[in-house]
Amino acid sequence: MARKKTKRERRGRRPEADVSPTDVSPTGEIQTDPAPADSANNTNNTGVISMTSVSSRIHEPQLEVEAHAEEAVVATTKVRTSPGAPDQGLPDTPILDPETLPGSAETGGAVVPLELPRVIAIANQKGGVGKTTTAVNLGAALAELGFRVLVIDLDPQGNATTGLGLNPRDVSGSIYDVLLQEAAFEDCIEPTAIKNLFVAPATVDLAGAEIELVPQISRELKLRRAVNSVRDEYDVMLIDCPPSLGLLTVNGLAAADDVIVPIQCEYYALEGLGQLLRNVGLVQANLNPDLDIRGIVLTMYDARTKLADQVEQEVRSYFGAKVYETIVPRTVRLSEAPSYGQPIIVFDGTSRGAKAYRDLAKEVSRGATRRTG
Ligand code: ADP
Ligand code: MG
Repeated sequence: MARKKTKRERRGRRPEADVSPTDVSPTGEIQTDPAPADSANNTNNTGVISMTSVSSRIHEPQLEVEAHAEEAVVATTKVRTSPGAPDQGLPDTPILDPETLPGSAETGGAVVPLELPRVIAIANQKGGVGKTTTAVNLGAALAELGFRVLVIDLDPQGNATTGLGLNPRDVSGSIYDVLLQEAAFEDCIEPTAIKNLFVAPATVDLAGAEIELVPQISRELKLRRAVNSVRDEYDVMLIDCPPSLGLLTVNGLAAADDVIVPIQCEYYALEGLGQLLRNVGLVQANLNPDLDIRGIVLTMYDARTKLADQVEQEVRSYFGAKVYETIVPRTVRLSEAPSYGQPIIVFDGTSRGAKAYRDLAKEVSRGATRRTG
């Protein structure tokens, strides 16, 4: 698919990778520049040599792109293309260079059996990659398997809340009240139409939390305290993180035992991934030593495109057994379900999306002992 050239490219300048450093202050807090809150048209501000840069050059014959970025995580150092190069797909050179990835990404190990109770953050600072869809539908499928599940909506957009059938205007309390008003966590938790499935809703006030948290004491650990207060009441808590690496996501990562990263099988899929992994490493080092990447889930897979296949291969070759076998296909039914306030297993229980999330739930819960019936 041809992409419109940016102004910079039209002027004949090479796209450069900007680096937004992530700092740890003396108090151990993590300072990040929030990534743009949207999707496929993002420009890269994460220090990662993006697929944008690669794809923008792919039509140009005999081109050598040498991309530099201090501490850049993805080092596609040389991209050679020939005049006949296809307009879709990745270059032959590796997109992810393991040597430049942070320690926390040196995964490779198999997915470990699920110990209950478990708090799992669904995180990726890119918007539109399937975090919320995964939180809602994996949550519902785990509940169907008999696990007692709490979905924690940490995104001010509240899509997990509405996707589970709640109207944010009707809830008596929200995550905002818990993080900033000292409200008891259990008071904001609501049941859903699905047995064993509960939600801690987000309302629009949460949009201000990123800033309101700044002067607070132990601002990174607010959610962790809340989660610990109900830890024994749920088998699995899934935290639907917002599309940024700000204080809300840091709260999510600090509260979690594990992270599941959804990766969209499309252009720009790997953009920002290194930054996310480095942030996981920083949270590990400063706030939550036990935090681990539990798994990578490939989402919005379109079998008709060669690109989806190539993204899958790249991700599997780097992350190995951390990548779930289940791949979530791109299906219209999955995108329709939220507007009915229903997880896919309720909206269309026999659809491909429902099957995928049921399979994923089995994989994620492998080795776990059921505590409820
Ligand atoms: P995120 O939470 O990462 O921003 P979402 O889960 O909200 O991403 O997904 C972004 C959009 O893509 C939503 O409109 C959602 O309904 C849609 N979507 C997510 N997963 C799929 C899929 N597998 N097939 C089709 N549409 C999907
Ligand atoms: Mg979301």
